[in-house]
Amino acid sequence: MMKVVVIGASHGGHEAAHELLTRYDDAEVTIYEAGDFISFMSCGMQLYLEDKVSRRDDVRNFKEADIEQYGGKVFKNHEVTAIDTDAKKVTVKDVRTGDSIEDSYDKLIVSSGVSPVTLPVPGADMENVYLMRGRDWATKIYDKTHDNAVENVVVVGTGYIGIEAAEVFAKAGKHVTVIDMIDSPLGNYLDPELSAKIRAELEAHGIDLHLGHTVAEFNGDQVLQSVKTDDGQVFDADVAIVAAGVKPNTKYLEGTLDLDARGYIKTNAYLQTSAPDVYAIGDAILPLFAPAGQPAPIALASTARREARYVVENMMIEKPGRSFAGVNGSSALTVFDYSLATTGVNANNAAKMNLDVAYSLYQDTVRPNFVQDGNPEIMIKLAYNPHTHEIMGGQVLSKADVTAHANTIALAIKGKMTLEDLAEADFFFQPGYDRQWSVLNLAAQTALGETPSV
Ligand SMILES: Cc1cc2nc3c(=O)[nH]c(=O)nc-3n(C[C@H](O)[C@H](O)[C@H](O)COP(=O)(O)OP(=O)(O)OC[C@H]3O[C@@H](n4cnc5c(N)ncnc54)[C@H](O)[C@@H]3O)c2cc1C
Repeated sequence: MMKVVVIGASHGGHEAAHELLTRYDDAEVTIYEAGDFISFMSCGMQLYLEDKVSRRDDVRNFKEADIEQYGGKVFKNHEVTAIDTDAKKVTVKDVRTGDSIEDSYDKLIVSSGVSPVTLPVPGADMENVYLMRGRDWATKIYDKTHDNAVENVVVVGTGYIGIEAAEVFAKAGKHVTVIDMIDSPLGNYLDPELSAKIRAELEAHGIDLHLGHTVAEFNGDQVLQSVKTDDGQVFDADVAIVAAGVKPNTKYLEGTLDLDARGYIKTNAYLQTSAPDVYAIGDAILPLFAPAGQPAPIALASTARREARYVVENMMIEKPGRSFAGVNGSSALTVFDYSLATTGVNANNAAKMNLDVAYSLYQDTVRPNFVQDGNPEIMIKLAYNPHTHEIMGGQVLSKADVTAHANTIALAIKGKMTLEDLAEADFFFQPGYDRQWSVLNLAAQTALGETPSV
């Protein structure tokens, strides 16, 4: 038997354990999880906060029995405090009693994830300054959405999580202000043309945006009353949700595994760490961002799952047959009436990574123009290599659900397809769904400088 210890019972840990136990006969698997619940799914938090699921504790990746039925063991309230990579042992503390035990492993999979950061400004630890990740914060936020005494909410961060928080509180009838140092909503994911639509949508729902500014201080007498920004403006706040970045949960690995300056676990192309038989997956590593050919922080459940599957397959053979293919960082979101999805390279990450990219924006109605009912506008922005025309990324936005187009673009990236390929790729036509040429064909034809037929 191969004895595998998994640290962390979230997307990465769950997937690794499930794959090991269901695909291989000779794996003995133990998961250690520091938290007191297996296994709240933050991806579903907005649905819980908006009362779209009846029970908070149904919003989970898995329950103990899902792994135990295949012979795995799951210990909650058990924090791994150290690993000994020479003796191949982990030290595990029962957080309820403080007692520690040691457990040995043949292979160790680290998926201890990240935690949201608080801001390094006065008042950041004040009552009612909240973070947004995990079951405990979800419970606290839920209570505030249903609290009539809460009138004003400040959300710090205009990424996916901050925008989810803003929408939740606005729908709950609270006045919301979003503050961020970047100057466009979802600006790390959407280029300006698409982000402008989201700005208008948020404002149409009464959300104030104070972008291009940082938080200077949280003010109040023990309990939060207002948030002040660097330009001296003061925003009333009964609650603040800080969704302004994360830090890896890797303190316990310092001095044992190689970490980068921010604490991310360094891995090679096979997701092996600096210690033999120790693998790392999930938000705590920097995976290969495939369209750029560089590592990047891509904190997504979908990424953790793919890494887990890859690691399991490769740890079961003598020598890994292939390196991890990397990910595109595909993600989707609903913002009130809009659906959006993005994959791969965009103007923001291209600038950070210094990539040579060209862009093209396609904009029309989702279906043929004669369709009057249920035919909203669609925007598709393609990113591509200006020399080879290889597709590097795409963003889609509409009031219709067009998010699946981003998955198609993700496949095009993976298949190293060019604009020319996408311009004539064979997709269906049905006027209830799409145009004579699919909007993806049309987006590629537009990028090639053609005047597509209507
Ligand atoms: C509000 C929100 C919405 C999101 N929505 C989406 C979405 O729609 N789609 C998507 O793809 N991603 C989404 N994500 C991101 C997704 O949740 C993460 O990418 C994913 O959970 C990462 O999984 P992970 O295995 O790396 O670990 P994490 O989810 O970070 O969990 C790590 C686990 O390890 C435990 N742990 C840490 N240290 C130790 C230790 N020393 N010993 C034992 N246990 C330890 C922690 O308690 C935790 O349970 C969302 C995140 C948030 C916060």
